Amino acid sequence: MAPNEEHVTKLVNADPGLPRSNPTESYWQHIPHPLANTQSPTLPIEANYAIIGSGITGLSIAKTILEKSPAARVTILEARTLCSGATGRNGGQMAANAGEEYMHLAAMHGPEMAGRIAKFTLRNLERMQDLIEEYDAVGVSEMQRLHKLRVFLTAGKFSEFKESIKRMEGDHPSLRGLYTILDEQTVLKLSAQDFGIHGAAGGALIPAGTVWPYSLVTKIFADLLKKYSDRFTIETNTPVLDVGHDPKSTTPFPYTLRTSRGPLRAGNVIYATNGYTGHLLPSLRGSIHPFKGTMTVQDPGTLVPNQGKSVSWGFHYPPTHDPETGRSGFGLYYLGQSAKTGYFYFGGENARVDDTISADDSFVGENSVSHLRDVLPRFFGENKSTAWKLVSSWSGIMGFSSDGLPLVGRLPSSISGRSGGREWIAAAFNGYGMANCLLSGEALALMALGERVDWLPGAYGLDEKRLGSVLTAPESVKALTAKL
Ligand SMILES: Cc1cc2nc3c(=O)[nH]c(=O)nc-3n(C[C@H](O)[C@H](O)[C@H](O)COP(=O)(O)OP(=O)(O)OC[C@H]3O[C@@H](n4cnc5c(N)ncnc54)[C@H](O)[C@@H]3O)c2cc1C
Repeated sequence: MAPNEEHVTKLVNADPGLPRSNPTESYWQHIPHPLANTQSPTLPIEANYAIIGSGITGLSIAKTILEKSPAARVTILEARTLCSGATGRNGGQMAANAGEEYMHLAAMHGPEMAGRIAKFTLRNLERMQDLIEEYDAVGVSEMQRLHKLRVFLTAGKFSEFKESIKRMEGDHPSLRGLYTILDEQTVLKLSAQDFGIHGAAGGALIPAGTVWPYSLVTKIFADLLKKYSDRFTIETNTPVLDVGHDPKSTTPFPYTLRTSRGPLRAGNVIYATNGYTGHLLPSLRGSIHPFKGTMTVQDPGTLVPNQGKSVSWGFHYPPTHDPETGRSGFGLYYLGQSAKTGYFYFGGENARVDDTISADDSFVGENSVSHLRDVLPRFFGENKSTAWKLVSSWSGIMGFSSDGLPLVGRLPSSISGRSGGREWIAAAFNGYGMANCLLSGEALALMALGERVDWLPGAYGLDEKRLGSVLTAPESVKALTAKL
């Protein structure tokens, strides 16, 4: 029996808690960065901007504020080691899903906004690649510019996708030519030549990339710490326990962040807390919920050629539910290959709902890993499920929102429960952080500095209409139960 609404409601509304102190180790972090445990000898007393979270969003916010505001003192507070959240444990895919989502977005927000979102994510990916080059991080982050082969495993999914692309291209001629649609035979023909994909109903190629986000983010943090040593600190192993505001304060620091190492007073509080947001902001529980993903690194040996410089893959299928095991497949697998080693980085969700709507990355569901080992070789025409060596496996926590879009902007007091108006959020990237976080962080930082930002899609904002209608716990339950 599919999990009932009551149970899913309980899960999405649960307190995600603080990031677990003993997370699984991701392959990306096997060699921790020298700054993994960086912190000041004593916690700073004050900061103009206190940013909670040291993932790519926290990085982007800090970088923008430091660059734009020469006097601003910035402190990042991180519960665990540097970049140990989703950014340090993801699939490394730099790809947008604008075309796939276009129909849905156009139905929800109209074609103009759907087009703005598509263009924003594409621009974000370009910015990622520019940033990697600007910081001379192509080598260290193993960045590859390539094509992503989106594979549709059923005729129904393929025709929905084609319909969505057709509509997007009709509404926005500037987006024409981005996707190259491939029929089943062409996807299979790739297989004869290059060991491509078996079992597809069709596919499409789109410009994309792959990256090692942990090494990129930690490298840039190191540069920023050096460049702005007099006014920027990162306090790892410093969970924020709660946030308070003194409306009577006459200082520039009316907020107090209570941490495991004592209080920090701040002028602005910025939440870059992704799937854990609901712990510090209980009003957002349910509208944002954690979603646990599993990743594997698998070694195909010499059975599959190394295509890591030219292609990555995504596999789309209709969501499934197995009443016997209680496990659900959430409709997507993602795959990249290391150009250096030929190892496959393969992820996708197939687990019980209690293991999926969860903020606990301290263990990997055994079934999730065996499922990923079973599925991957079959896409390449291998019938032996565990033929390939498992190099590594881990879990990580994404932030999902009820309407599938990030939340970027100033928090109203109805959400924070506090006056002051200087609390900000950039969170819930719904599994597509590499296509959203960098520019979302930049936009948020500029807003916090008082600048007008007209290039962030309005649908990412926190107006009362969104908060009262589509950004709610019942909407999360509706979206999830449709997939279970
Ligand atoms: C398994 C997996 C695979 C993924 N694959 C891809 C992919 O291939 N491509 C893609 O685009 N996206 C992918 N994603 C999503 C992507 O990684 C995220 O969207 C992105 O990294 C979010 O970045 P962030 O900085 O907002 O959050 P995070 O990187 O999660 O950072 C949030 C930080 O906040 C800290 N924190 C939270 N609460 C507190 C607190 N109270 N006190 C102090 N610190 C706190 C956490 O410890 C964490 O370090 C994947 C995610 C996972 C988990």
